[in-house]
Amino acid sequence: MDKKNIIRSFLLLMFVAGLSCASARAGAEVPEFDSQKAFAFLVRQCEIGPRNPGSEGHRKGRDYLQATLAQYADSVRTQPFPLRFGRPEQTEEAYNIIARFQPGKKERILLCAHWDTRPWADEDPDPKNHDTPVLGANDGASGVAVLLEVARLLHKHKAPVGVDIVLFDGEDAGTSGSMNSWAQGSQYFARTLAPQDRPIFGVLIDMIGDADLVITKEANSLAAARPVVEKVWKIAQDLGCTAFKPELGSSIMDDHIPLLQIGIPCIDLIDLDYPYWHTISDTPDKCSASSLDQVGRVLVHLIYTHEGI
Ligand SMILES: [Zn+2]
Repeated sequence: MDKKNIIRSFLLLMFVAGLSCASARAGAEVPEFDSQKAFAFLVRQCEIGPRNPGSEGHRKGRDYLQATLAQYADSVRTQPFPLRFGRPEQTEEAYNIIARFQPGKKERILLCAHWDTRPWADEDPDPKNHDTPVLGANDGASGVAVLLEVARLLHKHKAPVGVDIVLFDGEDAGTSGSMNSWAQGSQYFARTLAPQDRPIFGVLIDMIGDADLVITKEANSLAAARPVVEKVWKIAQDLGCTAFKPELGSSIMDDHIPLLQIGIPCIDLIDLDYPYWHTISDTPDKCSASSLDQVGRVLVHLIYTHEGI
């Protein structure tokens, strides 16, 4: 073995030792995300049926989510607001669901997803289905499912930072060409957020259950909250979560925009490349536990290794 090789071997040893230290430390402090439990949360929401505002599924969905979060969080409340939506123009009572963990901690992370489902499958290949509500296995239930499993872990293992999980209502009743008709729950939340409740940053997850999951860096997130994007992608890379791609993605109007508009750096983890988007075929068989696992593990590491941004 020549000197160069010895140095190489030494460096390799250091590297391996470093890795095992890191994983041992992570193993001791970072709880394990249970993707089967998360997938069961996805299926359970879909068993309730479509959760579009005004429907029976919407009422049942709200009660189910509130009751489930009440088992885990220090406090849970609903935040009612009037949802305006068209075809024909009407107003329905809608509800953001807000779960707080360690409410006494000043430094807080916001995790959010929308729980409502689209009232119309207007992207369905069959025009006969365009007025049928979607089931929203991916578009609605997937993000919520991951956050319910994160909530379960936050209950069992105290995090080093306060966490607020907010499930937005009224995200998906918008019409094209009318920006304000989308993300109405997030708009209301941002408008009424008390200064003392502002998180240091936020992560929105939406449509992350696709069995063929690809998450690129959403353009608005990168423009307004780059350090959060970079931190999340670094964790994903360290954990080998290959669904997270380094490429710049398109810019998307979603629940993170009203938060960005009030100066909260909130990023959107989303995979819009989903053939069943806003169709009646957005069902659990198009989703996978391993996709939920990748996003869930990244979020859990983000929370439990938190040392500031
Ligand atoms: Zn949608």
